[in-house]
Amino acid sequence: MSAPRLIDPIRLLPPQLADQIAAGEVIERPASILKELLENALDADATRLDIELSRGGMESILVSDNGYGIAGNEMALAISRHATSKIGRLEDLLQLRSLGFRGEALASICSVSQWEISSRRSYATEAFRLCYDQSEQLLPVNHAVGTTVSVRNLFFNTPARRKFLRTERTEFRYCDEVFRRMSLARFDVAFYLKHNARQIHRLPAVIDDIGRSRRVGQLCGEAFVRNSLVIDFPRRDMRLWGWISKPAYSRQQSDLQYFYINGRIVRDRVINHALRLAYQSLLAPGRHAAYVLHLELDPAEVDVNVHPTKHEVRFREARQIHDFLMQCLRESLQRDASPQSVTMHPDIREMPLEYAATGSTAETLSAQDVDARNATEGFFGNLQSIVCQRFALTQSVNGMYLIDIHRAQVGLARQRWQEAFESNQIKQRPLLIPQTLDMNSAQRQSYEQQQAMLARLGFELTQSSPSQLMLRAVPVWLQGFDSRQLIQSLLVSAIDLSEMFDAIETHLMSQHCELTQIDFKRFLMLLAQQRDRLSTSWRKLTQADLLAWLREQPVHHD
Ligand code: ADP
Ligand code: MG
Repeated sequence: MSAPRLIDPIRLLPPQLADQIAAGEVIERPASILKELLENALDADATRLDIELSRGGMESILVSDNGYGIAGNEMALAISRHATSKIGRLEDLLQLRSLGFRGEALASICSVSQWEISSRRSYATEAFRLCYDQSEQLLPVNHAVGTTVSVRNLFFNTPARRKFLRTERTEFRYCDEVFRRMSLARFDVAFYLKHNARQIHRLPAVIDDIGRSRRVGQLCGEAFVRNSLVIDFPRRDMRLWGWISKPAYSRQQSDLQYFYINGRIVRDRVINHALRLAYQSLLAPGRHAAYVLHLELDPAEVDVNVHPTKHEVRFREARQIHDFLMQCLRESLQRDASPQSVTMHPDIREMPLEYAATGSTAETLSAQDVDARNATEGFFGNLQSIVCQRFALTQSVNGMYLIDIHRAQVGLARQRWQEAFESNQIKQRPLLIPQTLDMNSAQRQSYEQQQAMLARLGFELTQSSPSQLMLRAVPVWLQGFDSRQLIQSLLVSAIDLSEMFDAIETHLMSQHCELTQIDFKRFLMLLAQQRDRLSTSWRKLTQADLLAWLREQPVHHD
């Protein structure tokens, strides 16, 4: 028999150990400290922040601000856990205007590093310093109004955690990213960053559009600014503003996506979804949009107390926010795509296309990017004009092409729909407002036979009365088409599946479909990838075509 196991008694954790455990949640690496210190400085109304890092922040992090400072008699309290000046009651959490509120950051930082805080409160005559090896002792020092926090030797007392730190370069990269996020959050604040005594960023405070765009250019690259749209949508209770990339500028990674809610950077599924949807079909597969966006709204509408790092949020009206974002972006992107040049003929509009790598984007494209681009969009080349709202005339290095975009659109819709049907992966789109459909008695009979098939095709239909159907959801492939008319045309005597799809195709071809310039670009791109399967929608123009066409033109004599 084994010896009885010794069971330890239950005891309260010593405060230092409790802090170290709590620190595990918020302090992962130097960058997490930098984030907390910058948030504190901004919460203290600082207008200038000076940051100095050494060895990627592992050796030291120093943040100096000109905010309202900490009173000498509150310094010891500031570094204890659950001590905050930002909230006092539960209701405050629902109306949060500050970045911090948990009262844990300083306590956590101080439990895992050798720290020092100097501060002078506004209107106070003296400044004080508190530091880790004599934490009870407050010493008078020289310091302007504001606060300087210095953090050295991170994890000196928790070696296990130190092991998780990476190379200096990597840790610096994380810090630099925190710096970018913060400085894109507050254009009215000056930010300066030094690493190993070298000045890395120098960002004076800016107050106008030009200044803000300059800062975005410094942090996100000039190419992004040049290829982005500046948007601003003030609403009664919300405002969305910032920079969004034009479809012609996309990235291999989603690394240039900054979204702020009331000045706090967030990563949120609802937001991501809305933005992805807005760009959907404007970007080649696998490419990502870039943006710096600020959403301002009543703090009561969002709950930030979801996660210790406060990057996640919960919206009270998620749907409304989602739709607002999507509408704003769609509107801006469409507006950008609308033709600007003169009309040559009522049916022929000249539309310069941005897909051609312009000088500005070319310099930021790697050879790989260019290959990838040629592989997808390059086949048909540039859109030269749109004829009769239906055909695209393009020119590429291979020659000129005439493309029936409407046919391509219908062909693609059929192809995808049929494939999804065969693999049982029909996707539906619910209608915001259900539609009613009238049936005569013959259609009613057909409906009874066809009901199951229509459901399998992705239509959600219910019979609301003997002569009426209610349509609640449609297959996603019908976007842009009138589904009601289509269903009516399908309510004919029994047909089999492939006849059904033929009928769908014929019907869709007969429908007029409003296409924007963006749609044209999108179908050109999709068609370029599927050109073999959709070969009936396009043809290369030969010299003979052009000659024949020229011969048919009436000759004018002036
Ligand atoms: P929180 O930010 O969640 O309140 P912290 O532990 O980060 O908690 O900070 C504790 C308190 O210390 C803050 O509420 C604030 O009153 C004070 N404080 C921290 N940093 C600064 C600063 N740079 N300037 C002024 N006050 C500060
Ligand atoms: Mg804080």
